[in-house]
Amino acid sequence: SEVYLSGKWMPPREATISVFDRGFMFGDGIYEVTPFYRGKAFRLQDHLDRLKYCLAEIKIPFDLSILEPLMYEALSRAGLAASDAAVYVQISRGAAPRTHYFPETPKPTFLMYAFPVKLENFHEKRWKVLVSEDFRWQRCDIKSTALLANTMSNEQAVLRGYDENLLVRDGYFTEGSHSTAFFVSNGIIYTHPKSPHILSGITRKVVLEICRDLGIKFKEEAFPLDKISEVDDVFLTGTTTQITAVSLLQEKEQVLFQGEKGEITGRLQEEFLKRTRG
Ligand code: PLP
Repeated sequence: SEVYLSGKWMPPREATISVFDRGFMFGDGIYEVTPFYRGKAFRLQDHLDRLKYCLAEIKIPFDLSILEPLMYEALSRAGLAASDAAVYVQISRGAAPRTHYFPETPKPTFLMYAFPVKLENFHEKRWKVLVSEDFRWQRCDIKSTALLANTMSNEQAVLRGYDENLLVRDGYFTEGSHSTAFFVSNGIIYTHPKSPHILSGITRKVVLEICRDLGIKFKEEAFPLDKISEVDDVFLTGTTTQITAVSLLQEKEQVLFQGEKGEITGRLQEEFLKRTRG
């Protein structure tokens, strides 16, 4: 299947970038992953809005109006026009002589491709999650390709047989290495407020909308690690994670939470299924 690189469709082996691309040298770029349920985009405008926000925050000039038709073309070129899939978009500041300051007239590198994703069995999953220190930077609201802290943390978790890791900063849960975290305590759902310490998840937004519509109480408040014994239910959300129940939360040798899927998680999953599948 083909990739779209700076204006052209081509096989991946022909898609090359400059060794001086700032995305390669500095991780100076941003990305987005948009889900397509049976070939139809879910919350496309939210994904485009986040992309626009991130581009503005790091001052990469780029016209996003070309994106939507290209995404559908990526799907059909990959034979995924009617499948569950996702489209990956990456924009870096492009090639320039290596300086820390930004080039005056950047020529951004734009990459896009579609890939298949299994989106139908999320409600059957139970994830084991490792808790570790959040040693990322202070601008996690930018969906940057510079993900070394996320990949290092996730590698430690996967190496030990976990499915994902949950990060703790100053005694509070922030989010997963590639997912948003929710905690249910005394019938109230807690999730970290929008802040530079988390990525503002589109699935997070959808889940909070569902809570409003179903009358499920929630608080956009960071949940403290030392209150973990008061938690009845934990779940993670994300574009490909959707809403996944957590069965085990462990920090080093210590079990912090263990449980079956709670009633609230189940209700949210049911409603999420309706909204994504129409
Ligand atoms: N937090 C991080 C660090 C992520 O990489 C992601 C991406 O999936 C999320 C949260 C969830 O965001 P979304 O629901 O928009 O996919």
